[in-house]
Amino acid sequence: MNGYKCTVCGEWHDELPMSFGAGAPYWYDVIAPEERQARTGLSSDQCVIDGEHYFVRGCLEIPVTDGSEPFSWGVWVSLSEKNFERMSELWETQGRENEPPYFGWLSTSLPCYPDTLNLKTHVQTRPVGLRPLVELEPTEHPLAVEQRSGITMARVKEIAECVLHDEATST
Ligand SMILES: [Zn+2]
Repeated sequence: MNGYKCTVCGEWHDELPMSFGAGAPYWYDVIAPEERQARTGLSSDQCVIDGEHYFVRGCLEIPVTDGSEPFSWGVWVSLSEKNFERMSELWETQGRENEPPYFGWLSTSLPCYPDTLNLKTHVQTRPVGLRPLVELEPTEHPLAVEQRSGITMARVKEIAECVLHDEATST
């Protein structure tokens, strides 16, 4: 499945994305742009705020029951200072995926779901070059239910319609 007819705007979109991602943690986005340089450090995979809040980017994957690959949300999670340093130390180390999972607080506010901030997660390191997997605590939150049970391609389309038109429909 490549393109799809969008039920929101009625137009044909050429590609159905299997992932969406946030460029920074929610807690970075809410800092005034003029303060960010002094208070934050941000790369494509890590973020530190005020020298005491530590974040890493990961993949929150959702199985797609009638698809060939999982759907993936690019999300940020906050780690303890100790785990963040441990993860940084091992960044280029072969076999780092043997680390036990780290506890993390979800730090991305995903569109199209009830509030996702501060959901509890486990962050599983993967081999060098791959972002860690983010697994939600198995609660009744719809995002956690989807991660446990999987979604269909129809739901992937619904997510795309929601995300791609989120800015138009909110505010
Ligand atoms: Zn559309």
